[in-house]
Amino acid sequence: MNLEKAKVLDNQKILPNYWQLDLYAPKAASLAQAGQFIMLQTTPYAEPFLKRPMSLNRINPEEGTLRIIYQIVGKGTQILTTIPAGGEMDIIGPQGNGWMIQKDYRKALLVGGGAGIAPLLQLAINLAEKEIKLDILLGAADRDAIFNHQEFLQMASVSVATMDGSRGHKGFVTDLLPQTPDYDMIYTCGPNPLMEKVALWAGQKGQACQVSLEERMGCGIGTCMGCVCKIKSKDGSIAYKRVCKDGPVFDGEEVVFNG
Ligand SMILES: Cc1cc2nc3c(=O)[nH]c(=O)nc-3n(C[C@H](O)[C@H](O)[C@H](O)COP(=O)(O)OP(=O)(O)OC[C@H]3O[C@@H](n4cnc5c(N)ncnc54)[C@H](O)[C@@H]3O)c2cc1C
Repeated sequence: MNLEKAKVLDNQKILPNYWQLDLYAPKAASLAQAGQFIMLQTTPYAEPFLKRPMSLNRINPEEGTLRIIYQIVGKGTQILTTIPAGGEMDIIGPQGNGWMIQKDYRKALLVGGGAGIAPLLQLAINLAEKEIKLDILLGAADRDAIFNHQEFLQMASVSVATMDGSRGHKGFVTDLLPQTPDYDMIYTCGPNPLMEKVALWAGQKGQACQVSLEERMGCGIGTCMGCVCKIKSKDGSIAYKRVCKDGPVFDGEEVVFNG
């Protein structure tokens, strides 16, 4: 387990409810894979005590940096906005298992919703470097919650859906799933109902799919069992797996979303 004191290079608001945090954390950056996450201490004081899990939006091992994009939802993320450049924070990570990419992939679909868009950018960069053709679907409540759009556009064909219709299709991002997909892999991250729909659709279409689960985490290192999810084996039996240690990325077919 890598414990590190990360230096805050920048921490700035990029959208009404989203902030971008750049960290200098050379050890974590040298180990990290797309799809992994870090546990991040939001304050040097006792409260909030628990570190918060955050995906790696960008990993730069040469410069020793990590980028996080975070949505303000509660106390920890609110406090996080007050940490200035030059500040320090304790991190643990990289944690968990990241996205799996196979050498022979030619075409992939990425589907992200809300804060779940964050771990898809480094994945898209890695796939594009391997010359894998990408289609990307991004969804959010409104245009102010779509981030990284320009970066994705440089690598892929991108379609957007917003619930209020302020950008792209009005409605669910899953409305944009194609009728006749021909992907080697579908990657998705976002709210559970989104991932459940994508995984179900992928299964019906005979497409392989990876989902990155988000569960409330206590320790983030595999000991507290606070983040278990139900995973179905090939023989139909159900096992509990830890999102922090065994995930967060799982085979979409194996996850029991409604159990
Ligand atoms: C693997 C993983 C990666 C994530 N990546 C990102 C990301 O890149 N960007 C982003 O904006 N958010 C991400 N999240 C969600 C983020 O961790 C929560 O929004 C954050 O912990 C909320 O903290 P809070 O103190 O502001 O909220 P509070 O609700 O006050 O938090 C209370 C407790 O619940 C936990 N918690 C609350 N919501 C969540 C949640 N949705 N998932 C997990 N734990 C939660 C907190 O860690 C804390 O222990 C990720 C979650 C997981 C599990």
